Amino acid sequence: MRGVAVLGSTGSIGCSTLAVLRRHPDRFRLIALTGGANGARLAEQTREWEPRYSALAADDGGGASCLIEAACRPDVDIVVNAVVGFAGLEATLAALRAGKRVALANKESLVAAGELVERARVEGGGQLVPVDSEHSAILQCLTERPSPVSRIILTASGGPFREWPADRVAAATVTQALNHPTWRMGAKITVDSATLANKALEVIEGHFLFGVPYQSIEVVVHPQSVVHGFVEFEDGSVLAQLGFPSMELPILYALTYPERLPDGGVRRFDPVVAGPLTFEPVRVDVFRAFALGVAAGRAGGTAPAVFNAANEVAVARFLEGRLPFGRIAEVIDAVLGRHRIEPVRDLEAVKAADRWARAAAEKEAG
Ligand code: NDP
Ligand code: MG
Repeated sequence: MRGVAVLGSTGSIGCSTLAVLRRHPDRFRLIALTGGANGARLAEQTREWEPRYSALAADDGGGASCLIEAACRPDVDIVVNAVVGFAGLEATLAALRAGKRVALANKESLVAAGELVERARVEGGGQLVPVDSEHSAILQCLTERPSPVSRIILTASGGPFREWPADRVAAATVTQALNHPTWRMGAKITVDSATLANKALEVIEGHFLFGVPYQSIEVVVHPQSVVHGFVEFEDGSVLAQLGFPSMELPILYALTYPERLPDGGVRRFDPVVAGPLTFEPVRVDVFRAFALGVAAGRAGGTAPAVFNAANEVAVARFLEGRLPFGRIAEVIDAVLGRHRIEPVRDLEAVKAADRWARAAAEKEAG
């Protein structure tokens, strides 16, 4: 029996995690739940699961203290971090320092502070296991294969605007951006998937998770979302992981890694039903947030934290109807252009860069 804390239980990944846990009561005990502002859903979850701890971050003034409290409990072995955005960072650090396994959906943790997350993992003896489907695919291809990797390829659905002309993309509405072709997710990551900022976040996430240099991480658009990732080994051989799109499989794997559990909850793969699988390059000229994010990752230091913060502000503005879709990448570009990159020495340096970038993005967005 392993004790599990679910941070962000009221969200999309949080609810999928509970669906997985519901099927495996003999293996996992749900110890702690945290939500953001959705008190009604948290109350419902608390009634069903009777966890030893449950809290709403909004009651905490939006701070990370309830996340840290839930994550660091002695009866918790695995922390599923399904919080969206920079708000999840401190809980990731605290859980790793406390020696927990972190099943990480909150990719923003790694993007903003990859070096600090790695340091916390080494110092605390914790374990970092990705929930993100592409990174779960890479991990599944790598596990128990000690051979050096020469390249990893992440797949991207291409989002709802994959085939749209540039001028139409720039004027896309919130409803159009939230209409993702293959995945049902929270609003922020759905917009990130439409701008392809999400794929840049995932390139940075992959760099820190697997220690692969940026020049060895590629992205290919794959509209069917059936192949989740490829790994190429030194001899040129390539392995891939496949499945119909569902986050429950990568969540389950992050809980049981490196083992697998029999599980009847996920739709079985059928290659004939999947049909033709196609691959195409990213339209980097149209989806500029992608190239900006990858460049920020390569630049290193505080640049990825600034990319992340500017993106969070621009996406929030877009969702409020206060920024055109096409301006999201422009805001990020302007903020990165004004940033003087610093090394990521400690959490304070990352928080300072995050604060600076948020203020700069607000100003830039007007
Ligand atoms: P949702 O918006 O659906 O859920 C986010 C969760 O975080 C909710 O429980 C929300 O609470 C909580 N939350 C929001 N702000 C705060 C805060 N300041 N402090 C504490 N908790 C907060 O997002 P998703 O589940 O879609 O995504 C979660 C993470 O997983 C993101 O990092 C995303 O990139 C990643 N991810 C998601 C995938 C998906 O399929 N959804 C796939 C791969 C990665 P409340 O709703 O109660 O306000
Ligand atoms: Mg992903």
